Amino acid sequence: MREYTEKIRETAKRLLKDGKVDVFIGYKKGSVPMMNEPVLISDPEKTDLLYWDSNCGLNLCNYLTKRTDRIGIVATGCNSRNIVTHVIENQIKREQLHIVGIPCAGMIDYRAVQRAVKFREILDIEEDNERFTVKGGDFEEVFDKKDLLQENCATCSHCNPVEFDEMVAEPVEEPQGVESYRDVTEIEDMDSEQRWGFFNEMTSSCIRCYACRNACPLCYCPTCFVDESKPQWVGKSIDPIDTMTFHFLRAYHCAGRCTDCGACERVCPVGIPVRQFTKKLNKDVLELFSWEAGLSLDQRPPLDVYKVDDYNEFIK
Ligand code: SF4
Ligand code: SF4
Ligand code: SF4
Repeated sequence: MREYTEKIRETAKRLLKDGKVDVFIGYKKGSVPMMNEPVLISDPEKTDLLYWDSNCGLNLCNYLTKRTDRIGIVATGCNSRNIVTHVIENQIKREQLHIVGIPCAGMIDYRAVQRAVKFREILDIEEDNERFTVKGGDFEEVFDKKDLLQENCATCSHCNPVEFDEMVAEPVEEPQGVESYRDVTEIEDMDSEQRWGFFNEMTSSCIRCYACRNACPLCYCPTCFVDESKPQWVGKSIDPIDTMTFHFLRAYHCAGRCTDCGACERVCPVGIPVRQFTKKLNKDVLELFSWEAGLSLDQRPPLDVYKVDDYNEFIK
């Protein structure tokens, strides 16, 4: 990972010094282990702040919406697809961007690491390609990265950026035959009562903090439906119906747009697997419209266009 960090720093410095971009968006090492933070840099002398390892799970595309300056940005597969979605939805212009592509080996699931070290305090993590060492006050343990990846990364089939201006390294081999939707199929196989019980149980600890919404680059409406008071679409309490309404509506707003970056799930303070909602819709748009979000700048999303041979059963 050190090579990636060096290459990102060099690239950002060059782009800022040459005046190709006004700002460079990347990650810096977090003040808490496994929590690297987004950083926006406009001074070429400060590019040494930039950092890369497998704890860069927040989606930087969040910082692009409606910007008018020229921007350099690092992008993995899922983040580059969010950038494409942003361009298609007229939130940023492609010509404003210089995308520095990162062939991605996946992000570490920090909750799985906490479980693996039995919730002892983690002081630092050092990564060395496929392995990483977790250090605490009185312990040091080595893990294989592939055993502790975030679920979305373990089932990712677009690890390389789909849109970029330059890459920090050669593309990684894309995994073949990934079973991305096994968990969704299990839920589909439940009867409606079981499914209702499953989702009720899943969301019962939701505190309506909206971190999942805020972490998602797709949620850029100036006023979110949950914050509207005239009319009030959904109650503000943690009444289960209000909570479920929030989750269903948020997921539907992401239909055909979600790139399964995992940021929403990563930031949830109570560990709710909110991707269970968006993954179902990702599966549906794939099966019904052969569509995966953000793969091409030249194709309009399925909910944006109409074709005579579109799936129409739900209308009839
Ligand atoms: S979903 Fe894919 S591209 Fe995105 S961080 Fe995980 S492995 Fe990388
Ligand atoms: S809904 Fe979640 S997984 Fe999908 S793009 Fe938004 S943050 Fe990423
Ligand atoms: S981040 Fe978690 S607790 Fe907060 S609103 Fe989303 S699901 Fe609920």
